[in-house]
Formats: sequence, C-alpha cells, structure tokens
Amino acid sequence: MKNVAVIGAGTMGNGIAHTFAQSGFNVQLIDVSEDALKKGMDAISRNLDRMVSKEKITEADKADTLQHITTFTNIKEGVEYASLVVEAATERIDLKLNIFKQLDKVCREDTILATNTSSISITQIAAVTSRPDMVIGMHFMNPVPIMKLVEIIRGYNTSDDVTKRIMDLSKELGKDPVEVNDYPGFVANRILMPMLNESIETLYNGVAGVQEIDTVMKLGMAHPMGPLQLADFIGLDVCLSILNVMYDGFKNPKYAPCPLLVNMVMAGKLGVKSGEGFYDYSESRKAENVAQQFIK
Ligand code: NAD
Repeated sequence: MKNVAVIGAGTMGNGIAHTFAQSGFNVQLIDVSEDALKKGMDAISRNLDRMVSKEKITEADKADTLQHITTFTNIKEGVEYASLVVEAATERIDLKLNIFKQLDKVCREDTILATNTSSISITQIAAVTSRPDMVIGMHFMNPVPIMKLVEIIRGYNTSDDVTKRIMDLSKELGKDPVEVNDYPGFVANRILMPMLNESIETLYNGVAGVQEIDTVMKLGMAHPMGPLQLADFIGLDVCLSILNVMYDGFKNPKYAPCPLLVNMVMAGKLGVKSGEGFYDYSESRKAENVAQQFIK
C-alpha cells in the first residue's frame, strides 16, 4: 500500500493525512470544499511546525511530509490509484452511505474502504457496497498525529485478511491498534460517552459547577482533561449524536442524553468549534490552546 486516499479535510481528515504522509505514504486528500482543503493543509503545516520547534522532526521532514499530500475536490480523480480509502467526512449517515456507494463504483476492485466514523455501524455502511468483506472501521483519536490508539472495527462481514492488513498498517504508522466488534459506540465511545453524559447530568443536577467537576476528575482520577472540557473539545453535537446512536441501538435508557446537553446543542453552544460550550473560547487563541493540550 503506497497510495492512500483520505476523504474529508476537517479535524480528523487532516490529522489522518498528516500521519500517513509522515510515514511515507502518498496521500490524496479529498474534500468537497476548496476552502476546507486549504484550511486542512494549513493545519497540517502548523502541526508540523510545532513538531519542528520541539525538535521531533527537521524542516526537511516537514517539507517531505507536505510533498506527499495532493489535494482533490473530485472523489473519482482522488481515489484512482488508492489501495486504501479512509473516509473522515462529516458524521451523517446519509452522507456516509452516499460516499460509500460512490467509492464502491469508482475505486479499484481490490481497494479497501475504511471509515473513521465515531458511531455509525460499519456493517450498515458495508451493506451499501458490493465488497462488504473489504469495509472496516479505522477509528483514529484526536489529535491523530499524537494519539497512539486506533480502534479497528470489524463489520459483520469484514474478512480476516482485511482486518490483519489494517492492523499491520496501523502499526506501520506507529500506532497501537485494538480490534473490536461492530456494536453501537464500539468500545471507546461506549465507555467514554456515558462518563461525559454523567458529568453533564451532575452539573444539571446542581451537584457542583463546571470547574469543580473537571477538577475532581483531573486531580482525583489523573485525567489529563476534565470531562466537560473534553466534551467541549470533541464537540457537544458530536457527543449528542453518539449518545443517540447508543440509545437507539441498545434501547437502553442509561444512554439517554442529558436534557442540558440537548438544550446546549439546540442553542448552538457546541464547545470549542462554536466558541462556547461549558467554557468560553471566544478568543481564538484560547480555543487553539485547549485543542493543543494533549500535544506534548
Ligand atoms: P469536520 O467537520 O471537522 O470535517 C468534515 C469534513 O468533511 C469537512 O471538511 C467537510 O467539508 C467534509 N465533507 C463533507 N461531505 C463530504 C463529501 N461528500 N466528500 C468529501 N468531504 C466531505 O469533522 P471531523 O471532526 O473531522 O469528523 C470526521 C469524522 O471523524 C466523523 O465521522 C467523526 O465522527 C469522526 N471522528 C471525529 C473525532 C473528533 O474528535 N472530531 C474523533 C474520532 C472520529
């Protein structure tokens, strides 16, 4: 595998493109929006600069990584030579099903189709293609170049061979892949989201304030970031949508989103990306600092 197409140049897509390119893969970064591609490439360049200033890589490594990435707005052109496509477009089921139907038509027969979805069923996505054995979840964590975990999700029909190739490839990227099965929330979000929801419920019930809840979890449980700040960082709309997928998928009230979370999303308070969530990020630099907390 030398050519990898990445669909979506947003937060995750640009991190995934950066990671593959830094490991020597040729990356075709595809987005419907020219502006998103420009912003994505700017983010990659800034993140590489940070690595240079910390002496993790050299200026020459940075230039080499950037040279490995080409951008496209046309899916068909972008995936022409790809052995693997990693889809990291917006988390909407109709959109992802459409992308996979299209990929199935335009990709080579031997191209593996992976999705970075946080919550949508891999089996359902695979079912709209004629190659469900070659569809797999490759759930990277944010920020992708830094976080070690990749949750590898086997759909109902994903083959052993494809799973092994994607596990091996993740190791080649310097990641630690973990294989899991395809049930709502997979493993990471099935455990994380109820904790975030419970911290919102604790706030909603007036047990303690935002700072107090986050401080308890940071100092008491050695979490690098409090749960409310983490929810802001992930995006409150994303948290709500993942909780809804688990609530619908398991028909279990323990996954019901807290009414405060629902209200905040309806009011447009989505966390870092909208400038306000549980914290105020109105100064753009502040928001950037929050997102960079994990980057050592
Ligand atoms: P984002 O909103 O930052 O970026 C999505 C990008 O997809 C945008 O640039 C948009 O223009 C592009 N896009 C939309 N439709 C497209 C299409 N048809 N073809 C090509 N590009 C298209 O979103 P994100 O946070 O990067 O999330 C992307 C995926 O990664 C989602 O499935 C999300 O659930 C998953 N994910 C997100 C995180 C996170 O922390 N943000 C973590 C793990 C997984």
